Amino acid sequence: MKIKDDWFTVTQLDENTFAISEYGHWEKVHSFLIIGKDRAALVDTGLGIDNIKRVTDQLTALPIIVLTTHVHWDHIGSHGEFEHIYVHKAEEDWLINGIKKLPIEQIRKDVSRDITKPTPDSFNPETYRPFQGKPTGLLSDGEIVELGNRDLTIYHTPGHSPGHIVIFDQSTGYLFTGDLLYDETPVYAFFPTTSPDDLVDSLEKISNIPGVNKIYGGHNSAGIEASILSEVKRGVDYLKQNKLVKFGTGVHEFKGFSVKF
Ligand SMILES: [Zn+2]
Ligand SMILES: [Zn+2]
Repeated sequence: MKIKDDWFTVTQLDENTFAISEYGHWEKVHSFLIIGKDRAALVDTGLGIDNIKRVTDQLTALPIIVLTTHVHWDHIGSHGEFEHIYVHKAEEDWLINGIKKLPIEQIRKDVSRDITKPTPDSFNPETYRPFQGKPTGLLSDGEIVELGNRDLTIYHTPGHSPGHIVIFDQSTGYLFTGDLLYDETPVYAFFPTTSPDDLVDSLEKISNIPGVNKIYGGHNSAGIEASILSEVKRGVDYLKQNKLVKFGTGVHEFKGFSVKF
């Protein structure tokens, strides 16, 4: 299926999985549509510059549940377009009451800079507001989300944010890692609501998930080879051994990924 869209770039990963990317914005955000037999899961809903539902409507007629990797504004942009939204219980409060310790002025600056594609008339950086609302349900570590012939396992992976999750698709071996692991730019754990200790523990946790075939992060490249997980393991050991797992130690670069504390 080929989708042409002015804002979103749709990449078909296999018959029933799609990356929906926003390459017109400096953050290069990805959301992912995972289609099962009975329903589909949308992993995050993008920046909110444009309406991602326009795209998902063309890709499936099945009911869609939104699985939130974490409640940062650049991953919940079109949450308001969907009826069924799930989030880890540690970030229920952020979804309802807003993200803590991040001024709206900063968000508006970040959402509107370094844009290389025309934005829709509906987008106004001066009035832009991240989604706020009640989730349909809460997710917890180890939970299985069933789509019908396709089971997704939820792993709680705090550090970048307290309720961050990654999602493992057992049927394909895809691991959707949100802002815990991506390439090209540093994964962040240097501001007040982050935890370098938790981030490193979470990286260690995902490096031990058996059967991962491909990794899909929330930014930059849409698809990283699973072999990066052995480098993640090496990185975790290096950071721990050298006592670098704390705020202020800066950027630590490894082969294929980096972290900033
Ligand atoms: Zn984030
Ligand atoms: Zn992000």
